[in-house]
Amino acid sequence: MLNLIFFGPPGVGKGTQASKAAKHYNLIHVSTGDILREEIRLETELGIKVKDVIASGELVPDKYLIELLENTCEKHKGAQGFVFDGFPRTLRQAEALEEMMERTNCKVAKVISLEVPAEELVRRLVNRAIEQGRTDDTADVIKNRLVVYQKHTEPLIDFYKKRDVFVVIPGEGTIDDIFAAICNVIDNRY
Ligand code: ADP
Repeated sequence: MLNLIFFGPPGVGKGTQASKAAKHYNLIHVSTGDILREEIRLETELGIKVKDVIASGELVPDKYLIELLENTCEKHKGAQGFVFDGFPRTLRQAEALEEMMERTNCKVAKVISLEVPAEELVRRLVNRAIEQGRTDDTADVIKNRLVVYQKHTEPLIDFYKKRDVFVVIPGEGTIDDIFAAICNVIDNRY
C-alpha cells in the first residue's frame, strides 16, 4: 500500500498535484474539502452542520472529519493506497490517521509539503474564488484561512518530521515540473 499526504496552506496547489498523483499511482484521492462541499451541495445532515463553518474559513470539528475519513477508507478497502489532500489539518486528526493506519498495519509513506511565498498564495486564492465561485474565498475569509492554517495545521510539520516522512517541494513553476519533482520523491522510495 502507498499512502501519501499532500500538505500545505490553502492555495498552494495541493488539490491539483494530489489528483495527478492519485491517477499516476492508481490511488484513491481523498480531498476532504471536495467531500465536504459535496455534502453541502446535497444538503446532507453533515453538509447542513458544516456549511457556515466552511464559509467562515474555520475548521470543521475533528470528530466529523475523523468519522468521514474512517468511512471513506472503509469504502475503498481493497485500494492500493490513498492520497490525502486537506487532511490531516490538526494534531488530533494526524493522531487519528496514525491509529487508523496502525490498525490495518499501514503507514504514511510521505508527506509532500508544497511551499510558495505568502503573496503568491493570496493571489492564487483570489483568482480561484473568481474562477470557481468558491464562497469561502473572499478576502477576509482568505486571511482567516491562512491564520487558521498557521495556528492549527503548521504544528503538524514537526509531527511528521519526527516520523521522518516530511518532504518539501517548491510549489512554483509549471504544474508538470512540480509533479515531476513529486514523482522523484515518491519513486526514490523504492
Ligand atoms: P484548500 O484546498 O483551499 O486548502 P479545502 O478545499 O481543502 O481548502 O477545504 C475547504 C474547507 O473545508 C476548509 O477551510 C475547512 O473549513 C474545511 N475542511 C477541509 N478539510 C478539513 C479538515 N481536515 N479539518 C477541518 N476542516 C476541513
